[in-house]
Amino acid sequence: METIRAETRAWTRWDVARPTTRGAYWWRVPAREYGGVTLRPEWRAGLHMCGMGYGPDEMWPTFSHWDGYNRTVYGDLEWCPVEADELEQKVAQREVVWRGLEVKGCPFCGTQPVMESVQSAVGGGMFVDWDPLRHNTFWLSCPSCGMARSPHVANLDALVRAWNRRAALGQAASPCEVRR
Ligand SMILES: [Zn+2]
Repeated sequence: METIRAETRAWTRWDVARPTTRGAYWWRVPAREYGGVTLRPEWRAGLHMCGMGYGPDEMWPTFSHWDGYNRTVYGDLEWCPVEADELEQKVAQREVVWRGLEVKGCPFCGTQPVMESVQSAVGGGMFVDWDPLRHNTFWLSCPSCGMARSPHVANLDALVRAWNRRAALGQAASPCEVRR
């Protein structure tokens, strides 16, 4: 994945300085637990003009929260611009880079798998709002050969352990193994 880069970006804390132009930015928050694994998500989201009640409109990220009185973002939020060459790449705007995920290569071809995630609702369905901090359903797939694709699960820790075991054996993680 071309968008997964070394951690050399110049991050700025949101509470120190905010971006001023509309457009796409990378965002990140400190590491916390997702499905039993401690990860630090970096994701792309737009900056857009938001109504501020009785005050003048301001630029805020699309995942900011308005409670009717105040607009807020996650604590310790940091941002940096999406670089020009990244803008040219045909990648999903909603891609998340999960820093700290230790997962072995595809059991069939050795390529590093991609983790995707969504926020699932109780009783099925997905939320439309894009906020990786609320993601609770995870899966792994091989972007190269397409042979390896895990089930969608809440227990990321079990999924990673099953995937890594299967990677050692040369088989993709199966649903029954992850649920155990
Ligand atoms: Zn593969």
